[in-house]
Parts: sequence; C-alpha cells; structure tokens
Amino acid sequence: MDTTQFDDAIAALPRKSIGFYPTPFHELPTLGQRYGIRLFIKREDMAGPSAISGSKTRLAEFIIGRALEQGVTHLITLGATLTNSGLQFAIACLRSGITPILVLTRNVGNHGPLGEARGNYLLNTVMGVETHLISAERDPWDDADTLARVTAVIEGRRAELEADGHRVLVVGGGGAHPDGFVAHSVTFREMLQQSAALGVDLDFVYHTIGTGTALPGMLAAKLSLGHPVKFRSISIQGYDDDDAMNPAVIVERTKSVLQRLGATIPDDATIRAEIDVDQGFIGDDYAVPSPASTAAIRELASTEGVFVGPVYTGKGLAGLLEHARTGRIPAGSTVAFLHTGDTGNLFEIAAIAGDLASQRET
Ligand SMILES: *Cc1c(COP(=O)(O)O)cnc(C)c1O
Repeated sequence: MDTTQFDDAIAALPRKSIGFYPTPFHELPTLGQRYGIRLFIKREDMAGPSAISGSKTRLAEFIIGRALEQGVTHLITLGATLTNSGLQFAIACLRSGITPILVLTRNVGNHGPLGEARGNYLLNTVMGVETHLISAERDPWDDADTLARVTAVIEGRRAELEADGHRVLVVGGGGAHPDGFVAHSVTFREMLQQSAALGVDLDFVYHTIGTGTALPGMLAAKLSLGHPVKFRSISIQGYDDDDAMNPAVIVERTKSVLQRLGATIPDDATIRAEIDVDQGFIGDDYAVPSPASTAAIRELASTEGVFVGPVYTGKGLAGLLEHARTGRIPAGSTVAFLHTGDTGNLFEIAAIAGDLASQRET
C-alpha cells in the first residue's frame, strides 16, 4: 500500500488524543561519531502529556479511543510497582474521563519490601490513582501463584464495579490489547517522514522489547509500505519459543495490524524472518540493573544530555552500542534508536538505578 492509503487507514480508527505527536526525531552526532555511524533517536519518551512519558501513551490513544465508544468507565491494568505502562495508562485514563485502577506486583526477592514511594510509583501516588499492591518473591510471568493472586484482585474489582453498573476494560501487562498494536505503525511512519526531511535513509531501527506491543506495529508499517529497514530488538526478558513472549506472538500481532490496515498479509515465514531479538543484554533479571546498561545510560547522558532508564532503554541502548562496537552494525550505517521511555525509573530505589545512584565525592 502507499502512504496515502496507510494514512487513511489510520485516520479511520477510533483514537483519543492524549500525547503530543509526532514525537521529536533528531541526530545524536557526538555519540554517533564515536561509533562510526549516523545515529538518530526517536523520542517516545517525550510523548507527553507530562515530562515522564513513553511508548505506552500511543497504545493508550487507540485503546481508549475504542473504549470511549464502548462506554467504558474504569480501566484496570497491571504491572510491577515501577511499571511505565501502568503510569502512562493511568495518565491517559485521567485525561479521558476514565477511572484508572492499577494492580501492581513488587518482586521483594529482587527489590525488597516497598519503602518510601519513589519513581513512577510516587507519580501514581501524587495522582491519587487506586492502587492494589501485591508483594511476591517472583514476577507473575515466572510464577503461577503470583499470577493467580493478581488475577483474583483484577476479577474481584471488576465484579464489584460491574455490579454497580460500571463498564470495565482490563488491559494486559505492558499495555497489551488488540486495539493498541496498530499504534507503533504510526511511529515508524513518522520516522520515515522525519528521516526523509533530514535527508537520510534508515538502515536499522533498534529498540528494547518487553511484552511485544511496539514491534508488531513497526513491522506492519515496514511490510505494508515496503521499506528495507531492519529492526533489531534488544530484550529485557526471555524471548524463546517456550517463553510467554515469543516470535509466534509477534507474528500473530503483526498479521492483526496488517489486517486492520487493510494491507496484504505475507506468509508467517516472511514475517518471522524480520524478527531479530538479541537476548544478550537481559543481565541478571528483569528490572535488575546490568553494568552494560548503567554504562550506556552514562555514555548517552555525558555525550548528548539525553537520559534513558535502567529497566528497559539502558539495556536496549547497551545492545545498540555493543553491536556498533563489534561490527554487527556496519560502519557508516544510519541507525535510529527508539527511546521508549523509562526515565522515571532513574528515580527508583537505588537497587534499580544501580551504581548510578551511588555518591561520588571529589
Ligand atoms: C513497555 C516498554 C518497553 C517494551 O516495549 P514492548 O513494546 O512492550 O515490547 C520498552 N521500553 C519501555 C520504556 C517500556 O515502557
């Protein structure tokens, strides 16, 4: 399909305006030169409506657009206490007249009991969001018992609200919902316009992959518009065929976005060949800082004055820089990093910020 057909298909979808789009796209000249590449950054962290934002705001625009048509009054979603997705959905709900409810788990094995409110959790507290906190030794996707506790709270709250005549929408962890996967096709469409305006053609787009809400839309845009860019995804949790999140899920979601756009759907093998996930930068566990990520956060900040975070984007950027160092990105390539957010987590507990949080005396 051509860009006009693409834009018409997007314009026909229900959507609630919440963020500031298109998000900025600009070069990182000092860091790029250091690695022998042209390096650009797409600023979903600046999507708004507040300074701490990210890639989930775009999902929320499409999910809430449909929810408003359906008369939804309350939106329940889940995540870790440091969740970026939960924060952005809570904000999006408040801007839309929907009541947000967060069911949050705290991995006390990795992070200890909740102390004072900080980071994203602090911001949810400031907004007065209804929050249900579940402490557990492990993350819910790794532990059936924790997942059952989360599900029981969500279903209990849903039943109470529905008994009072409210209409409830439950959105999965990371903002995973069928109405949202189309959102980041628009992100890649914006990147094509913005890179063309700067006179460059993108060879690679790097991003951090978690629950797989951004990649399907970007792949669908690439496939439907016929662009040769390669997406490279750096994961923050397991991504093999036997993991909850795996390539088959990405293929199915990509097909669903292509269908929603009215684009031609290629066979599964063609889509699967586009998926390139590197699991080498997870570190010890989800939301546990890695030395490579902490170094990447410092390197971007000290060269360009731009901040990425310790849970997702630091690990993603670490992958990009390592690929440039080792030649997996050929010298002279034009590369864009999708900054999906995570800056609120720089203000989390010290264990999450890693040695970024330690004092340095002169
Ligand atoms: C959710 C999130 C991701 C992962 O994105 P998916 O599209 O769910 O794979 C990456 N970075 C940040 C900052 C996020 O909040």
